[in-house]
Amino acid sequence: MKKPVPCEIVEQAARKKLEERGVTIEDIAKIVFDLQRPYHPSVTMNECLESTNAVLCKREIQHAVLVGIELDVLAEKNQLSQPLQSLIDSDEGLFGVDETVALGSVFGFGSIAVTTFGYLDKQKVGIIKELDRKKSEVHTFLDDLVASIAASSAARLAHRMRDREENRRIEDIRKREDEELIG
Ligand code: MG
Repeated sequence: MKKPVPCEIVEQAARKKLEERGVTIEDIAKIVFDLQRPYHPSVTMNECLESTNAVLCKREIQHAVLVGIELDVLAEKNQLSQPLQSLIDSDEGLFGVDETVALGSVFGFGSIAVTTFGYLDKQKVGIIKELDRKKSEVHTFLDDLVASIAASSAARLAHRMRDREENRRIEDIRKREDEELIG
């Protein structure tokens, strides 16, 4: 059997790829902040940053980030075979694999993550909108990946805030979180 890749290597690589492609944790946290504010006016940017960082610890998300960004970069360098090269390069509207890869990574965070991902896919906001505008670069997968990380982060935060409102102890919250999540 081949040796498995240690999880910290995968996490570091996923974070580095996001950064290299112009997406910071702050950019994603800003989307989370705007998503949560109507429901929790007291939510802080720090909480949104913390939640986004926590979401990036999940393998499901890291794997989606690595696969998606790799395909964007290869398409940008014109290194894919046809017709996949053209499908990704042109962000063909009916392609859909970009959304499917990103959507697959939000399931660990429940129904709020799924519906929020659908919302962000349609209402491109913040850095998602900026990526969409950069037509000289290929961000076919990245815009959906950012939407999935933001959606998962917002869903995680929503559940945490409810737990806090119910005055649950921090160990209790962590235990519930670990049991509910995969990867
Ligand atoms: Mg896309």
